[in-house]
Amino acid sequence: MNKEIESKNDRPLNFIEQVITEDLASGKHTNIVTRFPPEPNGYLHIGHAKSICLNFGLAQRFGGKCNLRFDDTNPAKEDQEYIDSIRKDVEWMGFKIGEPTSPAVYFASSYFDQLHEWAVYLIQQGKAYVCELSPDQAREYRGTLTEPGRNSPFRDRTIEENLAEFEKMRLGEYEEGACVLRAKIDMAAGNINLRDPILYRIRKLSHHQTGDKWCIYPTYDFAHGQGDAIEGITHSICTLEFADHRPLYEWFIDNLPVPAKPKQYEFARLELNYTVTSKRKLKQLVDEQYVDAWDDPRMPTISGLRRRGYSAAALRKFCDMIGVTKSASVVDVGMLEYAVRDDLNENAPRAMCVLDPLKLVISNFADEAGGKAAVEVTQPCHPNRPELGERRLPFTQEIFIDRSDFTEDTSLSRKKFKRLVSGDYVRLRGASVIKADSVEKDSDGNITTVYCSLVPNTIGTNPEEGIKPRGVIHWVSATECVDCEVRLYDRLFMDEAPDAGGKNFLECLNPKSLEIIQGCKAEISLAGAEAGQAYQFEREGYFTIDSRYSTPEKPVFNRTIGLKDNWENKVSD
Ligand code: ATP
Ligand code: MG
Repeated sequence: MNKEIESKNDRPLNFIEQVITEDLASGKHTNIVTRFPPEPNGYLHIGHAKSICLNFGLAQRFGGKCNLRFDDTNPAKEDQEYIDSIRKDVEWMGFKIGEPTSPAVYFASSYFDQLHEWAVYLIQQGKAYVCELSPDQAREYRGTLTEPGRNSPFRDRTIEENLAEFEKMRLGEYEEGACVLRAKIDMAAGNINLRDPILYRIRKLSHHQTGDKWCIYPTYDFAHGQGDAIEGITHSICTLEFADHRPLYEWFIDNLPVPAKPKQYEFARLELNYTVTSKRKLKQLVDEQYVDAWDDPRMPTISGLRRRGYSAAALRKFCDMIGVTKSASVVDVGMLEYAVRDDLNENAPRAMCVLDPLKLVISNFADEAGGKAAVEVTQPCHPNRPELGERRLPFTQEIFIDRSDFTEDTSLSRKKFKRLVSGDYVRLRGASVIKADSVEKDSDGNITTVYCSLVPNTIGTNPEEGIKPRGVIHWVSATECVDCEVRLYDRLFMDEAPDAGGKNFLECLNPKSLEIIQGCKAEISLAGAEAGQAYQFEREGYFTIDSRYSTPEKPVFNRTIGLKDNWENKVSD
């Protein structure tokens, strides 16, 4: 079994895959069931992508299933908007929810009746009590890491009294905070999670799924493992900070008449440098308008990355690259950028777009064109993938090149400046070799037009001996092109660890994380480009249509990522 599975993949099994392999081999399980359990209190981020790839990936690999379960036990922070976005993001990541036999989506809130019954069961067993200590008192009674806690004065209430009090809690006869239901475990336990943890608290709030049916809500600890048991989860995988909760997870499973015995495993959460991945902080960025929305292309959310132009395949590849371990470490965001660049290099069709247009007029164009307005030249959509076809580019008398691709400074060596220089030659990508003859300037001395001549019959062939173009530059027809806006993004945070101890992450924001460039000129084949389609703009980077601001009349392109990893150079400039 072990070998067979290993041979399907070219990497060794991670520790969870090893556990599952053993559980299947020993017959402990015949089928595995995992779950991805987000709380619908924000949009999913890149850290969640790791958990999605892990849980859905295990189900796929071992022929089991993975449930999407909304861990919706705290109505105060939850919202239908988040539920919808989470569903969309999980499916976009490429994983079908709940296949093949289960309903699509589960909600922890649909277990509220069962959880309430189990809370009553614990009271009946003398293992839970209603406690009226105030939060401050409860903290004091809890003790510290080095000192044991003390028993609550309410700990020895009778079963009857506890049943009656808990019922009053349920009926709304107490105010929020007046009392809680606690498990009776051990106030002297070394693990603080076992010092009579809270099972139920009063929250007089409507719930997005259960409406006003409940005014008491179970805690995460009381809901999670039992939800796993109800759904028949075999391997309940969570992040390392829950390792200390595992004894409590097991206490509930052992002390309740649950239908199955799931087991909890922990892995290291993804942390990325230059990035914040806490829903609370991401929400603050949105609420306080540091970014546009949860799906702002600078956000590390799955929806932001999608809008930025990342493909699901690139995110899956990244998750595969970082692997799954039990020890925490910070991943370089350059790795994520590598994953998307690699994916786009392979898959994105090429196109030309001039970001800072400078007009160029070709004086002898008519001779080459035989009197026609344009010469149609073609270019492959992808240099290594002929199956992606060709694109047609109208080559016209007036074209645009990028302002940075021309200089009058004839002292610049061929090696230093491989672009157009006064009096010298350059090749226009896919079209002729041209020579810069003269320039026209405005009253401020800015160049407004470069007059050129083309070397006849050099489309697709080399010029005669003696003419050596300095390089190849991109261009766009000035008469047949698409006016567009381009948005260049930089990292949202300038600090490597915006989230690290004591820092105010808002002070680490990069004030130059967004640059909007108007008046860009894209080749005509980009008319009608749609969101979700990535392009490589030659020499500029990878771009995609912005799904929020783009219109057919005025396309807006987001730069997903540059062609080269130039972050290091940029910060040291
Ligand atoms: P946050 O701290 O961002 O609010 P969370 O853990 O509270 O995250 P949940 O909605 O509870 O968010 O998470 C759903 C699942 O995703 C959990 O199983 C959790 O362990 C996992 N998860 C969350 N953040 C990360 C991360 N950075 N890396 C890996 N897995 C994560
Ligand atoms: Mg959480």
